[in-house]
Amino acid sequence: MGAFSHPFRAFTAFRRAAYRQDPAPRRQFLPREFLGRLLEGAAARLPLLDAPDLPWALAEAVHDPAYLRRWQRGEVDRADERALGFPWTPAVVARARGSSGATLAATRDALRLGLGINLGGGTHHAWADHAEGFSFLNDVVISVRWLLDTGQAQRILVLDLDVHQGNGTARLLAGEPRALTVSVHAEHNYPFLKETSSLDVALPDGTDDAAYLQALETRVAPVVAAYSPDFVFYLAGADVLAGDQLGRLALSPAGVRERDRRVLRWAARSGRPTTLVMAGGYHRDPQTLVDVRLATLDTALAAFAPRGF
Ligand SMILES: [Zn+2]
Repeated sequence: MGAFSHPFRAFTAFRRAAYRQDPAPRRQFLPREFLGRLLEGAAARLPLLDAPDLPWALAEAVHDPAYLRRWQRGEVDRADERALGFPWTPAVVARARGSSGATLAATRDALRLGLGINLGGGTHHAWADHAEGFSFLNDVVISVRWLLDTGQAQRILVLDLDVHQGNGTARLLAGEPRALTVSVHAEHNYPFLKETSSLDVALPDGTDDAAYLQALETRVAPVVAAYSPDFVFYLAGADVLAGDQLGRLALSPAGVRERDRRVLRWAARSGRPTTLVMAGGYHRDPQTLVDVRLATLDTALAAFAPRGF
């Protein structure tokens, strides 16, 4: 680990996902070349650690145990699979468990180092008792619940800048005063029935860099500042990019970089431990998506490295 000038590392469930047995990456438009280039680029920037398995007991603090058992055993029907977006295989369960374990490991890093990173994660459409939108386990809410239950945080911000509304997250944390859920999303995109987050910012189709960054400054920043969180989860969705296959906004790579810079600098400068998860990204061009993902990593490292904890 001595090769890096900072203490941070990233966790990933991608390496252990058997690409052929796991239908998820292909449905999520993550061609093998994308995953290979992402892992290679990330490994040049920080140590990559394989995701540890999430203990099922922590998942049960958020999800209905009967639901978890049904999915573990593959007792799902067509409607379940349609809602999830790909067919059930044992690898689907294993990867979700690894990805949620990666978010939890990143959260432990954040407590210790200031910044923790999961190269995947952000499956924010998972509810207590049903899966949808590529999401079987709600990794971020599982880690939020763990922080609250262990008394390690009392005011947690979930800043969800994926292009899709974090409906599962909103529902799972509704009525929890120790969490603030903020979702900035495309109004006319999936999920078409929105839930109510603490703050929802719904943007029109084709929103560009300037309008997006302005919404962040004028609508999100004041609410976040007033809440004054003691821990941050940042879902840095790349599906806000123009050219994303499942997005409806029109940010440029430079716009995403500026978005990340503002969020991560604020978190680092104000000394808030931050778990960074990548959330959605389905760009037509795999190299564009790789470049944007790596830029997010660079921005996070630049924001947190000089101060450390
Ligand atoms: Zn998304």
